[in-house]
Amino acid sequence: MKQKGIVYLVGAGPGDPGLITLKGLACIKEAEVLVYDRLVNKKLLHFAPDHCEKIYVGKKPHHHTFTQDEINQLLAEKALAGKIVVRLKGGDPFVFGRGGEEAEVLAAKGVPFEIVPGITSAVAVPAYAGIPVTYRDYTSSFTVITGHEDPTKKVSALDWEKIAAGGGTLIFLMGVGKLPEIVKKLLVNGRKATTPVAIISRGTRPEQQVVVSTLAEIVEKTATAKVTSPAVIVVGEVVRLREKLAWVEKKPLFGKRILVTRARAQASELSRRIEKLGGEAWEFPLIEIKEPLDFQPLDQALAQIDRYSWLIFTSVNGVDAFFTRLRRHKKDARALHGLKICAVGPKTKERLTEMCLDVDYMPNEYRAEAIAAGLQGKIQPGQWVLLPQGDLARPVLANALQKMGAKVDKVTVYRTVCTGEKAGLLREMLAAGKIHYLTFTSSSAVRNFVETIGPEKIKALLSGVKLISIGPVTSATARSLGLPVDLEAKEYTIDGIMKVLIADVEKHS
Ligand code: SAH
Repeated sequence: MKQKGIVYLVGAGPGDPGLITLKGLACIKEAEVLVYDRLVNKKLLHFAPDHCEKIYVGKKPHHHTFTQDEINQLLAEKALAGKIVVRLKGGDPFVFGRGGEEAEVLAAKGVPFEIVPGITSAVAVPAYAGIPVTYRDYTSSFTVITGHEDPTKKVSALDWEKIAAGGGTLIFLMGVGKLPEIVKKLLVNGRKATTPVAIISRGTRPEQQVVVSTLAEIVEKTATAKVTSPAVIVVGEVVRLREKLAWVEKKPLFGKRILVTRARAQASELSRRIEKLGGEAWEFPLIEIKEPLDFQPLDQALAQIDRYSWLIFTSVNGVDAFFTRLRRHKKDARALHGLKICAVGPKTKERLTEMCLDVDYMPNEYRAEAIAAGLQGKIQPGQWVLLPQGDLARPVLANALQKMGAKVDKVTVYRTVCTGEKAGLLREMLAAGKIHYLTFTSSSAVRNFVETIGPEKIKALLSGVKLISIGPVTSATARSLGLPVDLEAKEYTIDGIMKVLIADVEKHS
């Protein structure tokens, strides 16, 4: 039987991707067709399955890519063809989103649909500016109003006399272009000129900009500050609370968009920490970790694991790949009985500890050169050393150990491959000057980044972006490829990157 299609009208929230509902996210994860608007944070698209067809129907003011009719038809058509369609809309789908009209068409055509409400910008954007829309001492009501009436309407549907009267909070959406008219109508109809007003542009995003004034002065102040849409206008006494309650702007990485170029599996830790501190992290998994093309060398080493005296891990990926293969051979940690274990740094050590394996040696400086120096005297000539590494690992460690007289088996346990995925969006964001920092955590990430972006364009695209490298080896690779390194971690870890990043943002704020 043919699968029955459905349309989920999903609210994406106001901009911060964290402000989507669990149900909304679950819909995106199973979407076969994703139809999205301009105000939807593109980060949310990454949650869609790889095979999902993504269709941008964004409307720019005065410039319709798709007419509303065409969107309605598109949704119905795809669902009738049996697809799971997610119609992703900014904020809440039923607050000025024309979600009502879309649902109406689906209902009329007998297309199954569900509504997944979202967090509307009308409430969330003021909240991110430290403005509660109601507050006991000031007001117990708020009204959400369009600032941009249908231009074809001859007579205003808005009763300005009623809107202006009373002390309720007024929240205008789509009102930036019409601000002078809105202010005039409120004043003429009796709101006091001293009433506080806030305009919050691009709320909940790194570009959030807030202008606070009074009805008397907001037009001039907004013009000076060059406020642009999308913006929410809040009129009422509650605006005064911002002075006490402003919070996002106080976070150490507020306003910063940071590109994290790590393999997908590892990107999350750095991203999580950036976002906790108020920055917006974008993960571009330019490198992906894959199985080696040939398992034979690793399998052989595992078969004669008893011969080795030392097992040296130079990355978390190496640990993971090694043990995955060990399990495949139906062996467990007891197979390593009697081996001494070395980890390049604290993360690798931590992963080993999770597997109930203590580390016998970890250098103070977390790189291959330091391992060799530190193991001098600990490895006896003639002893066998197993070195499970990535295919791009530098030969320095193996060479140095051999010089010490050790017999080294360097086996490839994983491959680092360039995905190229998302490169278009990455270029677009760099070109638009939307990225403030770029982090590199390995030489292969640098090489893949350059390859993905295209060496000829890279200089121009990176002007204005600060590059942070995890350590001297990665920095050297970047410089050799013509990328200027602005900051280098003192401790060659994610912690080290976070430290230099925070210090730099503080220095320039
Ligand atoms: N359905 C949406 C509103 C769509 S109308 C919702 O519930 O939020 C588009 C208007 O929403 C914009 O003109 C602006 O007034 C407001 N808006 C949406 N996102 C915004 C943001 N991040 N910052 C400020 N205003 C925003």
